[in-house]
Amino acid sequence: MGCRDRESCRQRHENWLKLQEKYTPIGAEELEVFLEKMQKKQAFLHLDEDHFGKRSLERAVSVKDVLTVVENGWVIERRKRRGYTSLLIMGYLKHSSSYRPLHVVCDIVTDTQWWVITVYDPRSKPWKWDENYEQRVCFCS
Ligand SMILES: [Zn+2]
Repeated sequence: MGCRDRESCRQRHENWLKLQEKYTPIGAEELEVFLEKMQKKQAFLHLDEDHFGKRSLERAVSVKDVLTVVENGWVIERRKRRGYTSLLIMGYLKHSSSYRPLHVVCDIVTDTQWWVITVYDPRSKPWKWDENYEQRVCFCS
């Protein structure tokens, strides 16, 4: 596994950077507003138990881990995905004496109802990310 078209992915990375420079600040604002509402119980983060529960278990990620990343992480990508605005949130989890990165993908279904779609450790597909796991550098499917 790895990138199958470095030149094409290099160009797509350039485009991605330009787009995300524009869109991630919007996502950061959306996340901040959402978290304020969530604290006041005016907004809710949903997890699809059937889908997420099983897969997260396989990947050894708890619901608490997901919340930690959503509450303390930062938006690294904002895009339209299946008709919804979707945010990719990056954070670190403390694991004994080290930290491990985690990516959480949330769909903004409404301002007050967000759904966690998937959660993964970006080190599982390292070629897709830059060295900080913050920039998408490979777009091969
Ligand atoms: Zn690629």
